[in-house]
Amino acid sequence: SLNKNLTRQLATSVQPNKNPEIKYTQLFINNEFVDAKSGKTFETVNPATGKTITRVAEADKVDVDLAVKAAKDAFKLGSPWRRSDASHRAFLMNRLADLMQRDAAHLAALEALDNGKPFNIALNVDVPASIACLRYYAGWCDKIHGKVIPVSGDFISYTRHEPVGVAGQIIPWNFPLLMQAWKLGPALAAGCTVVMKVAEQTPLSALHVCKLIAEAGFPPGVVNLLTGYGPTAGAAIVNHPDVDKVAFTGSTEVGKLIAKQAADTIKRVTLELGGKSPNIVLGDLKGDDLDYAVNQSNFGLFFNQGQCCCAGSRIFVQENIYDEFVERSVEKTKKIRVGDPFDSKTDQGPQVDGEQMGKILDLINSGKKQGAKLLTGGSRWGEEGFFVQPTVFGDVKDDMRICREEIFGPVMQILKFKTIDEVIERANNTEYGLAGSVFTKNIDNALQVSNSLRAGTVWVNCYDNFDVAAPFGGYKQSGYGREKGEYGISNYTEVKCVTIKIPQKNN
Ligand code: NAD
Repeated sequence: SLNKNLTRQLATSVQPNKNPEIKYTQLFINNEFVDAKSGKTFETVNPATGKTITRVAEADKVDVDLAVKAAKDAFKLGSPWRRSDASHRAFLMNRLADLMQRDAAHLAALEALDNGKPFNIALNVDVPASIACLRYYAGWCDKIHGKVIPVSGDFISYTRHEPVGVAGQIIPWNFPLLMQAWKLGPALAAGCTVVMKVAEQTPLSALHVCKLIAEAGFPPGVVNLLTGYGPTAGAAIVNHPDVDKVAFTGSTEVGKLIAKQAADTIKRVTLELGGKSPNIVLGDLKGDDLDYAVNQSNFGLFFNQGQCCCAGSRIFVQENIYDEFVERSVEKTKKIRVGDPFDSKTDQGPQVDGEQMGKILDLINSGKKQGAKLLTGGSRWGEEGFFVQPTVFGDVKDDMRICREEIFGPVMQILKFKTIDEVIERANNTEYGLAGSVFTKNIDNALQVSNSLRAGTVWVNCYDNFDVAAPFGGYKQSGYGREKGEYGISNYTEVKCVTIKIPQKNN
């Protein structure tokens, strides 16, 4: 799991290449790298330095039209993709996973350079989790099947779970490779074709994967990938009449826009949006158990520079252990080593861009102004790049902005509570419902809290434990639909019911 892998002892013999060669900067359509029709490009920036890495093609509506046409042609009846056996789709997906394994160090270097996450984390978490996702869904290809239904009369009905068609997939920048794999895995397993738009901040690793898609032998047009901006390229995917389904991960604000726009063509939509997840620490913990909860809570918030949609950013601690928990959390947070993503000792790299850093610093200031107790951090780190000090606020109140708004940065909020009923009500008092957790040794209390949280994922005595076999997604304004696991496949299939008249029923 991500959790197990996130330790400083990540032993890796791979020396990172701080200057990986950037070979692919164009749009990927029909298995070819091509310029945007307009010839426009935009820069992608190294968040550790603020300097431009390279320029990549900027897709517009006209490029989306071409990519959708390629995907639609690749989905036509009789096309190589549609004629492929399910087992052959699995073979191609496993081959892609093999090639990602071969190029793991390069992919991790691109991820560290473009996103800012520590190279060791990219190499030991993001890349293997992405590969595992493709292999898991490769295993599903020939296991997607319908039912035979005992209808009345001389008929037999059966269902086929057919691919939904052209899937438009729009992904964010916080886990570029993993989000790409979470989207491609179920879509390809189901037999769909894909038009994906990656986040403008982090195009590089996904473009390398495109090269591997062609090398693996996927027919042209099965996967098409566009680099560009949301309101132009992203919106053109959502509005395109030949896109059958849109899967989006990102902000709740954009998710709402997409749901509205997709309504015009009754597209199938799945949304994985923001969160403000509660992490509840009950007062029965002491000694090592309390230490464990402190460590897991720290991980659940600071992992990936705090840029996780499921970050446990409201930590409710029962009053009898509150002071001790706060003290240990601050101690632990002060040990987080911020710095160069390519340095093997680094725990925390930069935020993805200046805009995110500015937003985080603004929320930190609001916390100070609204009377939360700043216990450590609270400012920008260094003068170059987009780093933020690991920050902890205590005495946080439910109505403060830092307790209501998604910060998406390394900023921890700790709140005090008295009773379990009270904390359940306060934990659920949010428009979000992505994840939550409870730490306790008491099974009754663990079940009461986990059953009561209105969230798509609840972790008991752990945090951020991700496995591709387990579903993930939101309640309330955290979205709808589930990714990963068997549930993830249903987003990419239509159910067709075939009814056959049979001569007569003999038995
Ligand atoms: P965003 O929602 O604007 O961007 C996510 C993706 O959507 C990107 O590929 C973007 O280009 C695209 N997009 C933007 N506008 C679009 C539109 N009108 N139509 C179609 N696609 C569009 O997220 P952001 O601006 O990168 O980050 C803002 C906030 O979103 C963050 O601070 C964080 O709170 C949240 N966020 C959540 C997640 C998550 O995993 N749930 C990931 C990234 C960001």
